[in-house]
Amino acid sequence: MPRVGVLALQGDVREHERALNSLSVDVTRVRTREQLDEVDALVMPGGESTAIAHLLVTSELRAALVDRLSKGMPVLGTCAGLILLSREVLDGRVDQWSFETLDVSVRRNGYGRQLASFETTLRVREVGDVHGVFIRAPKIEKVGDVVEILASHDHGDGEHAVLVRQGNVWGCAFHPELTDDTRVHRLFVETI
Ligand code: GLN
Repeated sequence: MPRVGVLALQGDVREHERALNSLSVDVTRVRTREQLDEVDALVMPGGESTAIAHLLVTSELRAALVDRLSKGMPVLGTCAGLILLSREVLDGRVDQWSFETLDVSVRRNGYGRQLASFETTLRVREVGDVHGVFIRAPKIEKVGDVVEILASHDHGDGEHAVLVRQGNVWGCAFHPELTDDTRVHRLFVETI
């Protein structure tokens, strides 16, 4: 059984664990380099990207993760996790950094501050209709040629990708862990 880690520095760790626990994987929390060494794949949860980025540095996980990502470890970043994987972060804090492993540009809180949270039905490729929960979500504004778009959404300003994949690197603007539907997690887990 593949061992899937959930980066457990900040954010909705428990919800991802619950979703993954219902699939055929071993689930483990990752807070240290040693714990990262033990997993085959990693989920980076939603939360606050600046807080997670800070804790990645203080826990010395940043360098270890750069190494694992360069070796092709499967990773799924949701919301703040997507921001952390993106090549470019717009409207980030001045000192905001990201792993730059996913060739997309994301705008933090890109769906607006007042209307920051919304729910909608998304059509996900290979899955079907999924209930999408967006909470102060990043908007994917640019997508590189090698990035596959698995779902997109028009929030009144044209279609924007909301679930993307570049090989083993997956990014999701919404929160599949906040519903009882585990099909997005399953899609990711099946590729490990
Ligand atoms: N807006 C948050 C950030 O910039 C992400 C929101 C979320 O993960 N729900 O980190």
